[in-house]
Amino acid sequence: MTATGPSQEPSAAHTIQEYQHGYEEERRLRGFRSGCGFVTATWGLRCPQCGQLDLQEFPLSGKGRVTAFTVQTVPADEFVNDAPYAYVLVELDEGGRISGWMPAVRAVEDLAIGDRVHWVASYKPGVQFEKDSAAAQR
Ligand SMILES: [Zn+2]
Repeated sequence: MTATGPSQEPSAAHTIQEYQHGYEEERRLRGFRSGCGFVTATWGLRCPQCGQLDLQEFPLSGKGRVTAFTVQTVPADEFVNDAPYAYVLVELDEGGRISGWMPAVRAVEDLAIGDRVHWVASYKPGVQFEKDSAAAQR
């Protein structure tokens, strides 16, 4: 006979509410690291690579490179005064990828794959990024 019930529920050291609280309220980004070396910037209950439950949480610098982007001209309601802007996928320096948006990018010519960007705290929803200075684009 196998035991069932709450004791069999997966438990994690973190919750999605805590994760959201992390960047929206306290203005910090959190990453999660598994014992197998897998790193993600996306909250999850377990490692998608090895299944480990107890992912170690660590602060992300919010720095990385643009790995994909698109310029949005038809925005969601929250961004109606910001269009056009870029919706970006950023490969973080610590590992993992995170999606966000860049209000300063008004056209595809304003950004390139591989450009260095950094996270900026904002009252707006989502994770907002800004392009690094030209000197830092190496
Ligand atoms: Zn793992």
